Amino acid sequence: MAILVTGGEGYIGSHCVIALIDAGYDVVIFDNESTGFASTGKTLKSIGSKGKVTDVVKGDLLVTEDLEKLFSTHDIDAVIHFAAFSQVAESMTDPSKYYRNNVTGTMNLLDAMVRHDVKKIVFSSTAATYGEPVYVPIDEKHPQNPINPYGRTKLDIEYMMDDYDRAYGLKSVRLRYFNVAGADTKGRVGECHDPETHLIPNILKSTFGDGKVFRMFGTDYDTRDGTCVRDYVNVEDLSDAHVLALRYLENGGDTDFFNLGTNEGSTVKEVFAVCEKVTGKKIPVSIEGRRPGDPATLVADNSKAKEVLEWAPRRDLDHSVKTAYDWEVKKRNA
Ligand code: UDP
Repeated sequence: MAILVTGGEGYIGSHCVIALIDAGYDVVIFDNESTGFASTGKTLKSIGSKGKVTDVVKGDLLVTEDLEKLFSTHDIDAVIHFAAFSQVAESMTDPSKYYRNNVTGTMNLLDAMVRHDVKKIVFSSTAATYGEPVYVPIDEKHPQNPINPYGRTKLDIEYMMDDYDRAYGLKSVRLRYFNVAGADTKGRVGECHDPETHLIPNILKSTFGDGKVFRMFGTDYDTRDGTCVRDYVNVEDLSDAHVLALRYLENGGDTDFFNLGTNEGSTVKEVFAVCEKVTGKKIPVSIEGRRPGDPATLVADNSKAKEVLEWAPRRDLDHSVKTAYDWEVKKRNA
């Protein structure tokens, strides 16, 4: 029996694969390598732990034959589903790409699961399903009113999962991520987006003295120092939560959803200061106007995940920045 990880060659998926094999699971990776990397699959396959990556399959959720072949040639017990496009700005200019890949792709996956009697799925959802916060910290009872197509595709999938549970008994755990940060402590995998839009890698990419200036978007928000507040959760802590969510389903847990964040917010200026401290570099910065669509503050209330999944974030922002920096250095030297 193995756990199928879709998008296992991507940023969060690859860290989750390591958490799974460290916990003793065997893993089959399915990835179309549009934003994930074949080299990541090779790295993951080479890691020996309590469990192992038994297969890396290149295939597409939009090709039903790929899914049929995958499920008929592997003994899959449960699915952890990361494969998705995740850039908010791109989702506004090309919503069709997002609805097709994220929503239709997930429907194809769920249909294949139903056909092959696989009844457990852990899904990467997002704080973007909440939209503009009505109150913070955001708990799971907060209204879900996403303000961009990316968030709407993830919410559509959450609804789809409720319907597939009612009709076919497919149990899901939806994990709503806040801002994911950091890299594998042992430096085997990390974040590689092109273009990179996220705060921490963008600050760190400006530490190499090659003229790249970090652009700070918006210093006139109603926050403690005028910059946006976000809740940065470490990617290895996040991966641990997926293993706990899987165990929850294995133990007969019902369909449910949980916020994954730290309950604490950091401003852009605070993150920038941590980056300067951890790297020991003076980082060039230019102050720019607000980036459209950025709410002032997004912070999770994670009490439900703590209580039900018995999850607790353990690695702090300094650790996330340190591992992310080591990863940036490694990529440059590769
Ligand atoms: N940000 C920034 N410069 C960058 C990237 C991000 O100032 O190059 C800011 C962004 O405006 C937001 C915060 O950092 O206030 C977090 O942005 P990110 O894209 O990492 O995550 P989001 O909260 O949008 O998912």
